[in-house]
Amino acid sequence: MGHRPALALHGGAGVLPQERFPSDLADSLQAELLRCLAEGWAVLHAGGPAVEAVCACVAALENIPWFNAGHGAVLNADGRVECDAAVMAGDGRCGAVAGIRSVRQPVHLARRLLEEPGLVFLAGAGAEAYARREGFEAVEESYFVTAQRQQELAQARKTGTVSLDTAERFGTVGAVACDGQGRLAAATSTGGLTNKIPGRIGDSPVIGAGTYACDDSCAVSCTGIGEVFLRQVVAHDIAARLRYGGQSLKAAVETVVLDELPALGGEGGLIAVTPAGELVLCHNSPSLYRAWQRADGPPQAAIF
Ligand code: ASP
Repeated sequence: MGHRPALALHGGAGVLPQERFPSDLADSLQAELLRCLAEGWAVLHAGGPAVEAVCACVAALENIPWFNAGHGAVLNADGRVECDAAVMAGDGRCGAVAGIRSVRQPVHLARRLLEEPGLVFLAGAGAEAYARREGFEAVEESYFVTAQRQQELAQARKTGTVSLDTAERFGTVGAVACDGQGRLAAATSTGGLTNKIPGRIGDSPVIGAGTYACDDSCAVSCTGIGEVFLRQVVAHDIAARLRYGGQSLKAAVETVVLDELPALGGEGGLIAVTPAGELVLCHNSPSLYRAWQRADGPPQAAIF
């Protein structure tokens, strides 16, 4: 091996303060986060690549309706699902999809593109046609839709908001990993924002904004108000601070998440890892659903 594996995942930035958060729900959520973490850790433990570990975590999170990705993705202003996902390996390979609604695991389609020479990013009907050509089973849009998300859309329509701020909201999902060979990877998957304009794409599937990995610096997966993360090209900015500025991961992440983003209205957070297996998980929102594990320690989960 040589390097010390490390893995972290997030289930999005939350808006409820701890005192208003149902404690039984917090327990169940943390158990689910740990279960998804174990899927990725099993890959690293067996000597597998970081990119496979992050996809295993994100695919597991996509299956949980609490989270805003895959089954349980939020609905746009037309009441439709539009899923976005991206995967990047630290050697520069990457794949991304946006606005898809017929692929059960959007992260797997992004991963397929990562393996495709000469292609990175596909959206909408073209992405779905590609999925069919590549043998991905077509699922009905109803597979993604839950009663909870329908209620949230009704509420957002009433208040006229495009919003992260429904009380029950759980977010976007993502993972970052360093494997036993020091290779990095990041993956992010989301339904975007409730009541978003059809066609709106946030930071999550945009390489460098919501998702980025470079074996020389770090791997990053973000969550929060996508427009601000896009404008700031947050994930690449973190890597650039390490690469060109010589900052530590902790200093880079804290400057961006705790100083710069709040000044611009960028509520949210991110998770990041270096080739040395250093993990940083940071948020300026009331919570960040998260779990992590290092080679020398037990799996851990936290919300606040
Ligand atoms: N960043 C995502 C987006 O703007 C939303 C989120 O992280 O909750 O699409």
